[in-house]
Amino acid sequence: MSDPLKPVSIAILGPGTVGSEVVRLLTAQAGDLAARVGAPLEIIGVYVRDASKDRGPNLPRELLTEDASALVAGADVVVELMGGIEPARTLILESIAAGASVVTANKALLAAYGPELYEAADAANVDLYFEAAVAGAIPLVRPVRESLAGDHITRILGILNGTTNYILDAMTTYGLDYEVALKQAQDLGYAEADPTADVEGHDAAAKAAILASLAFHQRVGLEDVFCEGITSVTSEDIIAARETDQVVKLLAIAERTAQGVTVRVHPALVPATHPLAGVRGAYNAVFVEAESAGGLMFYGQGAGGTATASAVLGDLVSVARHKALGGKGPLESNYAAHALLPVEAALTRYCVRMSVEDRPGVLSAVAEVFARHDVGIEVVRQVPGQSHAGLILSTYEAPERDLRATVEDLRVSDAVAEVKSVLRIEGE
Ligand code: NAP
Repeated sequence: MSDPLKPVSIAILGPGTVGSEVVRLLTAQAGDLAARVGAPLEIIGVYVRDASKDRGPNLPRELLTEDASALVAGADVVVELMGGIEPARTLILESIAAGASVVTANKALLAAYGPELYEAADAANVDLYFEAAVAGAIPLVRPVRESLAGDHITRILGILNGTTNYILDAMTTYGLDYEVALKQAQDLGYAEADPTADVEGHDAAAKAAILASLAFHQRVGLEDVFCEGITSVTSEDIIAARETDQVVKLLAIAERTAQGVTVRVHPALVPATHPLAGVRGAYNAVFVEAESAGGLMFYGQGAGGTATASAVLGDLVSVARHKALGGKGPLESNYAAHALLPVEAALTRYCVRMSVEDRPGVLSAVAEVFARHDVGIEVVRQVPGQSHAGLILSTYEAPERDLRATVEDLRVSDAVAEVKSVLRIEGE
């Protein structure tokens, strides 16, 4: 082997759950990483808010600095693992302006300010890599951005948030109520004290925006993603799903049709036989459908310090190799101009659970509402109730706008006492 080149200098911003594991693995695997890059990787500093705080044996005090700007100015590669918008955005822009390549896991920042960062990186001829921003350890950004660059992706369907999958799985497997399952997820460290970003679907929506941008070669922002979380999913929904051999999952769906692109995140009923139904606990899984490749499935740990550090280090090896030996990763690809359609244009199926008046003619009155909106009913199930009869209807595929209009009319129909829940059906 030829003599190693001069070290590639690495600055780490934010030694938290992921960052501290990146530092540990960079040290523990220094020999392998140097051989893979073709040059040693040298951590020149770790940015923290409080350098006096003890951060354990893996983070020697002499590496800690409170001066982020000075640190990034001297780095070949900056690894941003602070999360949040500021100061991450400003520090990444400073790093790029100083000629450093950047590796980040920051989905919130990329979904909100991706175009600004991509343009700055392209203009400065440096790399911006972000494998860990979508689905943690699962290689997904690179396959979508690079391996499938010669294909046409038509659909991405996946479980992109481990916290909500953990909660829904606990509700399904152990019959827990939403609040109890959430508390358990918090106690086990799967959910944050403020779980809003996860349970309201915002985290999955940010990842869906990033994936859709890569898959469809055009900018898709958070504002283009329809987002509905899991807070209204009840134990009754879970039980009703089980009775029809289905499970409830929070899905992210990005689709391209002849009309345009839709991107949505919402809970959905998935057949128990579907591979996504078997994704347990905090795991993630994603289906990618492409015209030539057909269906591809990606599965693994979507979070966790060590698992996510694996994706960060994979990026780090690539960008450090470019720094040491020359070359550059892919530029942003945003040449396409598909119409970005609202969720109302998406084709889906509804499962409507309601209680109806217990009298003759009710079924035909309900069926008339569906027919009025040209929505076909595939299955009707009657469930005995006390004062009212229970009715569960599954529709054939129809545009979301027609399905919504149907439910609005059902809510005001004399035949219907209450529309108890509406869930989309996907994955058939
Ligand atoms: P974390 O444990 O909260 O760590 C964040 C680190 O950044 C801490 O060291 C924190 O310092 C530092 N930090 C935060 N704000 C800062 C500021 N304004 N100035 C200076 N330092 C600041 O977060 P994490 O879970 O490692 O996540 C890091 C990034 O990875 C996020 O973008 C996240 O979305 C992404 N990610 C995480 C996972 C995961 O499983 N955790 C998975 C995929 C992607 P203090 O110690 O001083 O607070």
